[in-house]
Amino acid sequence: MSAVRTLIIMTLATLTLAQAVHAAEEVNLYSARKEKLIKPLLDRFTLQTGIKVNLVTGKANALLARLKSEGMNTPADLLLTTDAGNLYRAQEAGLLQSIQSQTLNNSVPSQYREPSGQWYGLSTRARTIFYSKSRVKPAELNSYADLADPKWKGRICIRSSNNIYNQSLVASMISYQGEAKTEAWVKGLVANFARSPKGGDRDQIKAVAAGQCDIAIANTYYYGAMLQSKKADEKAAAAQVNLFWADQTGRGTHVNISGGAVTKHAHNKANAIKLLEFLVNDESQAWYAEVNNEYPVKSGIKVSKILGTWGPYKADTLDLHLLGKYNAEAVRVMDRAGWR
Ligand code: FE
Repeated sequence: MSAVRTLIIMTLATLTLAQAVHAAEEVNLYSARKEKLIKPLLDRFTLQTGIKVNLVTGKANALLARLKSEGMNTPADLLLTTDAGNLYRAQEAGLLQSIQSQTLNNSVPSQYREPSGQWYGLSTRARTIFYSKSRVKPAELNSYADLADPKWKGRICIRSSNNIYNQSLVASMISYQGEAKTEAWVKGLVANFARSPKGGDRDQIKAVAAGQCDIAIANTYYYGAMLQSKKADEKAAAAQVNLFWADQTGRGTHVNISGGAVTKHAHNKANAIKLLEFLVNDESQAWYAEVNNEYPVKSGIKVSKILGTWGPYKADTLDLHLLGKYNAEAVRVMDRAGWR
């Protein structure tokens, strides 16, 4: 056999082996984050590592139900979802596993990850107060607690109590001041509602602009999206509303996360960890946060221009796994207080 021929055969054999290894390298992702808010990063991950990402997107609750029903036959290795309350639910349902990663522990502040490594925050968002520029002066605003004051009677818009963001806000209050005090606060807040809760966070901000209420509680990224919206009515509505950082002299504004977790039955656990670690590198963090008007979870990463205009704020440092711990209690408190 000629040397050239041997070389060709050897090269072919090496190529085939490389391709076989390559084909086996993949990770299956269930994502409650929309495709356009994640896909470009996944493509970059594949380019850098050769690991193929199979993406399934869906609503947070639907993905949890799917993971549950698939049990140990689930193809999912990694779950991306919003709200620590949802991540806690997945954990409680036994759908996740603890992982160890120095990279993740170094990049994600301890309050934004589950203590045993069951889930990790990847971006943060604040749930704060939005007010009518024409009917409310910022000096009249203060804390979440103050929103139960009768001076706000008939002036507050907020979505329904079955929404996880509101449940987590109430759970944070329970963490700090217990159930009885929180229930009194929720009753006061409900008494100040301008209308029966309906719609999403954007609808509350629009209602302020339309004069149906003077104050809304919403997540910051919705306001950011409205300010830059291609829909003229959304943009115009946002322009009539300002953001107020709640509780700056107290515990700080309530924050929550979007996060990721390795599933209990992951077949590609090492690749799932690699992808999580990739999502907390500086470059990924900046993109991941900016594309959804969120804050990077990692410190020292520049925030987007629009978030920069809102200024720095004091964020609550509560351990977010407590939002899950007190979720059921929060739901009961809201129910008893008549928050529909
Ligand atoms: Fe949302």
